[in-house]
Amino acid sequence: MTDEFDNEDFFEEDFEDMDEDENYEKFCFLCHRPESQTGRMIELPNNIHICSDCMQKSFDTMNQHMTDGKINYADLFNMPNISMIDLSSLQNPAPKPKKAKKKKSESQPEIDLRNIPAPHKIKATLDEYVIGQEHAKKVMSVAVYNHYKRVATDTMDEIDIEKSNMLMIGPTGCGKTYLVKTLAKLLDVPLAIADATSLTEAGYIGDDIESVVSKLLAAADNDVEKAEHGIIFIDEIDKIAKKKNTNQRDVSGEAVQQGMLKLLEGSDVEVPVGANSKNAMVPLTTVNTRNILFICGGAFPDLENIIKERLNKQASIGFYADLKDKYDNDPHLLEKVTVEDIRNFGMIPEFIGRLPIIFTLDGLSEDMLVKILKEPKNAILKQYQKLLALDEVKLEFEEGALHAIASKAMEKKTGARALRAILEEYMLDIMYEIPKDDSIGQVIITREYIEGTGGPKILLRGQEMPLLEG
Ligand code: ADP
Repeated sequence: MTDEFDNEDFFEEDFEDMDEDENYEKFCFLCHRPESQTGRMIELPNNIHICSDCMQKSFDTMNQHMTDGKINYADLFNMPNISMIDLSSLQNPAPKPKKAKKKKSESQPEIDLRNIPAPHKIKATLDEYVIGQEHAKKVMSVAVYNHYKRVATDTMDEIDIEKSNMLMIGPTGCGKTYLVKTLAKLLDVPLAIADATSLTEAGYIGDDIESVVSKLLAAADNDVEKAEHGIIFIDEIDKIAKKKNTNQRDVSGEAVQQGMLKLLEGSDVEVPVGANSKNAMVPLTTVNTRNILFICGGAFPDLENIIKERLNKQASIGFYADLKDKYDNDPHLLEKVTVEDIRNFGMIPEFIGRLPIIFTLDGLSEDMLVKILKEPKNAILKQYQKLLALDEVKLEFEEGALHAIASKAMEKKTGARALRAILEEYMLDIMYEIPKDDSIGQVIITREYIEGTGGPKILLRGQEMPLLEG
């Protein structure tokens, strides 16, 4: 480092030249590299330029000399290379990267065992937000409870409790992401959501696998310790199934599964602080993934056929031979999934082995969609009601109207995701017209309005009436 900064002679000669010729390329005051190599320089008074690399090194050196949050200048200025810079005179300092918190060597466990809610309490809170999916909520509550109990007591090494990484299988829009988000909020742990389709083997176009850890670090405000207790949700995991019948290198399928093995199990990962690319000139920090909970989710289309094929094969052998189409209309077919089926789908055994908790979610029925509209704590209907209440207008929905909305959403086959878009379409006119007229006191959305055969019921102030269910 000293060699690199030993520059006084160079600086003087160079400076004279620069005065003579305006077009002369700028050189870094510290490392002597020209601007064409270093990228844009930071300008200091007296025509001094410093490249962002050296600026970063200076900040890093300062950080190393911090005691109790203050810079130890005496110590710092003993360093020959740094003494020349008067940092207080910087005019345009480079954007300061957020600092990674240093790991405390003997830190208290962040999550106190006594504070982890018991599984039934976790589930009860999930119930307030997520409709149905009883089995998934139960499995997740227990898994999360066990995971954080293990983290808090740090017993992983002594009693080898398996990590509770999960694989959730369920159709699109049935609440997979929503469940994980709610869970992370409840536990107050950072959450990173990544899409497996964007991941590729390191070195190929796309995000490399370790970028998911960098996302988590960002979600934890660059606090390494917090990130190490976080949750990483990887969506669309079925899209990285092994490609069948291909001779090309499978950089976004099997290779990604292979690449994730270490992360899932627990390893040290070097990630940039405050940026998501290792190429940026930002310091790296190490995050250990041992206590990070990984949850993978996917719709696994066609998995039902794989299950059916297996069941049919079993059923057609021997004494218990069954009818061939016995499983054709079985609504609970997906629940019968086994590790073997997932392997047949294209996930490699080592990968499945690192996700010991596998469970399925149900597709949403019309009744469940109606409940999703009105029951959760932050239900969409409640949000609209609150908006109109600000104009002192009561908003009500007939039960029939809710079913009509749900049945329209069912047609779109995107689960609960379609609800908001459909409702928004009908609410637009209401939200536009109502504030025009101060005398309106209540709006009732009818089935006819949703089905396009009539309008909403509008009642004037003083004439409001309780809604008769029907
Ligand atoms: P996916 O299963 O594809 O990850 P999401 O979790 O993103 O689906 O669901 C989309 C939206 O639908 C969520 O933001 C949530 O508002 C709503 N939603 C889906 N399922 C449920 C559910 N079971 N209970 C309440 N809301 C739900």
